[in-house]
Amino acid sequence: MQNISFFFRIFATSMNDYLNTPIEFLKGIGPQRGELLRKEIGVFSFEDLLNYLPFRYVDKSNYIKINDIKTENAYVLIQGKILSKELVGAKFKSRLVVRFADETGEIDLVWFKGVKWINDKLKIGENYVIFGKPTLFKQTYNFTHPEIDSTNENKVQKEGFYPMYNTSETMKNRGLTSKAISKLMQTLLDGMSMSIPEILPSSVLQKYQLISRDSALRLVHFPKNQEELIRAQNRIKFEELFLLQMRVLKQKSQHKLEKSYVFSKVGDYFNHFYKENLPFSLTGAQQRVVKEIRKDLGSGFQMNRLLQGDVGSGKTLVALMTMLIAADNGFQSCLMAPTEILAQQHFKSIQKFLTGLDIGIGLLTGSTKTKERRVLHEGLQNGTIKILIGTHALIEDVVQFQKLGLCVIDEQHRFGVAQRSKLWAKSQFPPHILVMTATPIPRTLAMTLYGDLDTSIIDELPPNRKPIQTLHRYDNARLKLYEFLKQEIRKGRQVYVVYPLIKESEKLDLKDLEEGYFTMCAEFPRPEFQVSILHGKMPQAEKDLGMKLFVENKTQIMVSTTVIEVGVDVSNATVMVIENAERFGLSQLHQLRGRVGRGAEQSYCILMSHQKLSNDAKQRLDTMVKTNDGFKIAEVDLQLRGPGDIQGTQQSGALNFKLADLTKDERIIRAARVAAKLVLDEDSDLRQPQNQALNRHLQKMFGDTVWSKIS
Ligand code: ADP
Ligand code: MG
Repeated sequence: MQNISFFFRIFATSMNDYLNTPIEFLKGIGPQRGELLRKEIGVFSFEDLLNYLPFRYVDKSNYIKINDIKTENAYVLIQGKILSKELVGAKFKSRLVVRFADETGEIDLVWFKGVKWINDKLKIGENYVIFGKPTLFKQTYNFTHPEIDSTNENKVQKEGFYPMYNTSETMKNRGLTSKAISKLMQTLLDGMSMSIPEILPSSVLQKYQLISRDSALRLVHFPKNQEELIRAQNRIKFEELFLLQMRVLKQKSQHKLEKSYVFSKVGDYFNHFYKENLPFSLTGAQQRVVKEIRKDLGSGFQMNRLLQGDVGSGKTLVALMTMLIAADNGFQSCLMAPTEILAQQHFKSIQKFLTGLDIGIGLLTGSTKTKERRVLHEGLQNGTIKILIGTHALIEDVVQFQKLGLCVIDEQHRFGVAQRSKLWAKSQFPPHILVMTATPIPRTLAMTLYGDLDTSIIDELPPNRKPIQTLHRYDNARLKLYEFLKQEIRKGRQVYVVYPLIKESEKLDLKDLEEGYFTMCAEFPRPEFQVSILHGKMPQAEKDLGMKLFVENKTQIMVSTTVIEVGVDVSNATVMVIENAERFGLSQLHQLRGRVGRGAEQSYCILMSHQKLSNDAKQRLDTMVKTNDGFKIAEVDLQLRGPGDIQGTQQSGALNFKLADLTKDERIIRAARVAAKLVLDEDSDLRQPQNQALNRHLQKMFGDTVWSKIS
C-alpha cells in the first residue's frame, strides 16, 4: 500500500493527477477505510475529499465554564480535570461514566461504545479538553460521547476555527470521526505541492473580489477566523451559482434560437369560445398572460414559458385558450398532467368549456383501453384530434401526431427534464412549451431551477372569491369540529376529510383512513348524512362512483387520502378538514386547501393535529393559518425544508450545492447571474483563452447535456 501511494505521488505530474488519485492512497486511509469513504459519503478521489466540506465550525479559542452551560445541543469546549470514572452496568451493556470538573462545577461524560478503550486511555487527575454537545438529563447537563483530548495533545487545535464534518454511524464505529476526517484533510492539503487550478476567468475574480480557488478550498477547511471563513465560503458559493447560471443561460439562449412554428392568427375556435362559451370575463392577470403567450407564439422561435399562479387562479383556462390558438393555426396540442385523476378532470372541464365547438379532443392515460387507444392514435395521425389530454402515456413513442405545435405541462416539477425533451421528438420543430405550476416557486429557486424558462405570473384570483378561513385545532376539539361540520352540511355544503398517506407506512395510514371513515359514519348517521371514501388502492370503478356521488352532492362528506389533492373541483365543497396535518408538507397543505373556496360561499380549512408538535410542524401550521398567499408559503417552505427537498429539485440534480443556499444567498445568486451573462455575451461558446479552463470545467460537469452540444 505504502509503495503504491509513493508511486502515485512520484508520478502525479500535475495537480489534476494528484486530485484524481483514488482515495485509498492517501496516507492514513488504505483499502478498508477507502471502501467506507466511497460507500458512506461518496468520496472516491482526493478531489472528492477536498470537496467534502465541513458542515459547521467551532471556535476553539472559546472555552466555556461548566457553570455557564445553559443550553442543550450547541457545541462547547471545556477545559478541566477528571475526578473519577466508573464502569456501570452489566458486561455487554456497560457504560463509562466520567466525572469531570473545572473551577466552576462538575459534569458527567458518558460513553456507551468503545468503553474499554476509552477507559484505558483516560487518567484520573489529568487535564483534558472536551468538546461536544451537552444534553439535559434528570435536571443536569452531561455529555454523551464527547471528543476528549489531553491538553498536551490539543495544541494544534487550541486556536482558530475547528471544522466539523458529517460522518455516519458506521464511519464513527470504524474510527472515522469528524476529527479523523480533519486529520486526513490536513494530510491531503500538506501533500498538495502545487495550487489547485483556477476555473473562473480573472475578470470575474477581479470584479467580484473573489479569492482564488486554491485559497478558498484550503481555507474553507481550516480558516483562522470568521473573516477568512466567510471569504472562502463566498468564493465557493459564487462558483457554484455561477456555474449553474452558465448552464441555465446557455440553455435559455439555445431555446431562443430554436426555430418553431408561427401561430400568427386568432381564429374561429378561439373567438367562438371567447364570445359564446366563456361564462365570465378574464381577470386582468389572465389577459396579460395570454398576451405574453401570444407574443411568444408569433415570434417564430420556440416558446418556453413557465406559468405560475396560485391554486384556483385560472391557469387551466389560459392553457385552454393557448391550445385554441394552436388549433386556429392548424396545429395540434397536448396537455400533460401528472396524475390520472387530474388528466380526467382536465378532460372533463375542457370538454364542458368547449361545448358546441366542433373540435376533436382526446384523453389518453395509462388505463385507456387498447381499442380506444387505436382510435386515438388514428385521430392524432390524421389530425381530427386537435387537443390531446393525458398523463405520461402521451409521451410514449407510439403516440404520433400529425402536426404537434404546443405542449402544455401541468405541474411540471413532477416531470423530469428528460420527459420534457421527449416531447420534442414528436414534431418537425420543437413544439412550443407552456409549463404550469400550481405551487408557486420562490424567486431564487425559479431563477436557478427554471432559469431557462420565461415566466408569467397570474397574481390575481377571479373576483368574488372569499378568502378561505384557516384554523388549527387539536384532537381534543374533535366534538366541536363535528358540530361545526353538521352546521355547514345543514346549510347545504359539502366537506372533505383528508388523511395522510405516506409510502413507508401505507398500511397503517390506510387503517387510520378506514377508522376515520367508520367514525364519520357513526357520527354522521344516515339518512341525514352520507359519507364516501376514496383512496388510491380502490378499484377504478369504485373510485369513479365515489367521486360521482360527491360531485352530484349525493354524499356530503368525502373521506379520502391526498388523491383529491389535485383533480377535484366541487365548488359546493366549503370545508377541508386535514387530519394529522402535522405530517403534511406546506405546499401539500396549500394544495389541499385550494380544493375549497371555489364558489361564492365562505370556505374553511381546518388543520387537525396532535398536541405535541415539532417546531417545524408548528411553523408550517402557523404559516397556513396566517396566509393564503401561495408565494409566501413557498418562501417559508423553502426556508424550512431547503431546496433539496422541494419536489423535483433532486431529479434536476442542478441544486446539489455544497454551500450555496437559495434561501439565504439571493445576493450572490444575482451577482453570479450577471457575471455569467457578461461572460456569455462576450464569448458565447467560451472559445477565448481566458475562458478555456471554465469551458473544460463545464464540460466535465454537464458534459452529456447542454455543454457538449456547443463544443
Ligand atoms: P388553476 O388551474 O389555476 O388552479 P383553474 O383554471 O382550475 O385554476 O380555475 C379555478 C376555477 O376558477 C375554475 O372553476 C375556473 O372555471 C374558474 N375561473 C377561472 N378563471 C376565472 C375567471 N376569470 N373568473 C371566474 N372564474 C374563473
Ligand atoms: Mg389546476
